[in-house]
Amino acid sequence: MNHLNLSQLNIFSSYTIDRSDHNIGDPRTLNELSESGHARFLPITGYKVMVTENLEVVTIDVTEFRSQEYYKKPPVYLGRDNGLHYFAVSVDIGHGKTQEFRDLRSLAPLLDKNDAALLGYAVMMITWQRNHRFCGVCGAPTISISSGHILKCSGDNCGIEHYPRIDPAVIVLVENAERVLLGRKSDWPEKRYSAIAGFIEPGESAEQALVREVAEETGVEVAEVSYQSSQPWPFPGSLMLGYFAKASTDQIQLRDGELQEARWFTREELSRNLENGTFLPPTAASISFSLMETWFNQSSNIPFRMLCENNTTVR
Ligand SMILES: [Zn+2]
Repeated sequence: MNHLNLSQLNIFSSYTIDRSDHNIGDPRTLNELSESGHARFLPITGYKVMVTENLEVVTIDVTEFRSQEYYKKPPVYLGRDNGLHYFAVSVDIGHGKTQEFRDLRSLAPLLDKNDAALLGYAVMMITWQRNHRFCGVCGAPTISISSGHILKCSGDNCGIEHYPRIDPAVIVLVENAERVLLGRKSDWPEKRYSAIAGFIEPGESAEQALVREVAEETGVEVAEVSYQSSQPWPFPGSLMLGYFAKASTDQIQLRDGELQEARWFTREELSRNLENGTFLPPTAASISFSLMETWFNQSSNIPFRMLCENNTTVR
């Protein structure tokens, strides 16, 4: 299993942007960039991004960035691609632009993969900045430095530097006797099922977290795990670690109430339910989909993706 290739298939993780130029956000360098016309700014508000009707990413140039009052915060440098330097910039809701902001989570599967990854990265940085406006140690306001990749405390006796935060989580497709374990939450779209997932707790390995989450949510005991790939997940700032697992038990018991339902599916059941519209797969952008696809295609004449594309389940 080539984890590198698998991770590149996951949306939000495919971008080949060069992140090495972190001093580019310095005012002097930014001035030079504005002269050259090679800087592009991505307006972000919450999890929302700007795209055209044709789903092309909307960027603004330095002149517009400087001229508009609603771009109040210092930009965050993301990296360079094809000779252009990309920045994320936080926009207050209520500004007067004509292009509409749209939610990246629902938009991502429709976007060009590299665009989705760039916007995901931008959303993660802006979200982190928004949630760390004050120092967690002394409560003084933080100041964006190092092109937005460090938030430094402004307190006289503190001055601690805060770095972008990522919360690791596990997502696992559990198998037992040619069946996989899928669950659904009550607030998901109707008929949607997904692999079991949860955050890693302090003092836990990823594998321990996986065994605990599956037991808590479904009552199933995991005996064996193997790593598949990872995926950044910008809502709000997770790194999903994808695994396959083999279960030693198959009795389902919803112990912690997090899931509304959990059940085992054979490949035949998945095919049938996709065909008759009683099963909605996870979004094709997710690692959950990728795990299901890999497992399903190990023993099927029809690719999982093709079945999903023909899926008539009401969304
Ligand atoms: Zn402080």
